[in-house]
Amino acid sequence: MKPVDFDYVAPPVLEEAVAVLASAGEDGRVLAGGQSLIPLLNLRLVRPRLLVDLRRLTGLAGVRAAGDGVAIGAMTRQADAETAPLVRERAPLLAAALAHVGHPAIRFRGTVGGSLAHADPLAEVPAAALALDATLTLTGPDGVRRVAAEDFFQGFLATAAAPGEILTEIEIPACAGRGWAFVEFSRRHGDFALAGAAVVLALQDGRLGPASRIVVLGSADRCHRARAAEARLHGEPPTASVLDAAAAVADAGLEPASDVHGSAEYRRHLVRTMTARALGLAAARLAAP
Ligand SMILES: Cc1cc2nc3c(=O)[nH]c(=O)nc-3n(C[C@H](O)[C@H](O)[C@H](O)COP(=O)(O)OP(=O)(O)OC[C@H]3O[C@@H](n4cnc5c(N)ncnc54)[C@H](O)[C@@H]3O)c2cc1C
Repeated sequence: MKPVDFDYVAPPVLEEAVAVLASAGEDGRVLAGGQSLIPLLNLRLVRPRLLVDLRRLTGLAGVRAAGDGVAIGAMTRQADAETAPLVRERAPLLAAALAHVGHPAIRFRGTVGGSLAHADPLAEVPAAALALDATLTLTGPDGVRRVAAEDFFQGFLATAAAPGEILTEIEIPACAGRGWAFVEFSRRHGDFALAGAAVVLALQDGRLGPASRIVVLGSADRCHRARAAEARLHGEPPTASVLDAAAAVADAGLEPASDVHGSAEYRRHLVRTMTARALGLAAARLAAP
């Protein structure tokens, strides 16, 4: 199939892009790398009246230091972020997650901001952003606002971005000295995952502190903080029995569906297994960062 007719603009400056997008209200859509939007258009699952292409907004692409953390422009190609030295050094979990996004050809076109804004529940970048306690910057007709990743993902392909708002940057705070890991299971390399886990372990006075996070993907309408599992970590030493106890409840609160790819119980098993693997890797990095 082919898309329904739409108008197309590629403004050279952000202010113009915001203004024209806002003027279209619910009928406007941003086009970034097109790796998710173009299929949706061709299948007529979305029918915007106006596409606002961000490709000329070169100021939205790039990686910079932000304090001891890192800020990544929304139009930064996933492949560029994956290999950026600052990302590898200051947000290695994100670099590891990006390596699982489709195939290199997808990552050369797809953008970091596009993946976040698309909010696919199986996408790796949102899960990494949530685990890393990232903050997203939205620029709209009423100005700029910053939204925690925690509040940004609101459901299946749904975010806190209002019509007319453009995601412009993602900022990841410093996480030096923490253990981290991203693991997932997919049937073939490059496929969307059936399940995955992004884990950050942070010590406070020799015990796992509140900055320790477990985010699982698969089996929910968005990336999901496994709070029952996190609660098993907090205040405890990072021993094998503590990590096992956390992984055993990583699927709490999830209600996976059975489908052609696996039963609900199989998906629960995968979530627990991916979490156990990620916790083990993160703990090893905590011990020898
Ligand atoms: C074969 C194939 C395999 C793939 N495998 C995976 C995978 O394993 N894991 C995975 O996570 N993804 C996968 N993807 C999707 C890929 O990661 C996309 O790049 C990503 O989902 C969207 O990024 P994009 O830049 O292409 O955005 P687009 O497709 O251009 O846009 C996606 C959505 O986000 C909105 N949007 C984009 N940028 C902004 C912005 N700055 N502000 C506001 N709204 C914005 C658009 O309006 C649209 O609704 C795959 C895609 C393909 C085609």
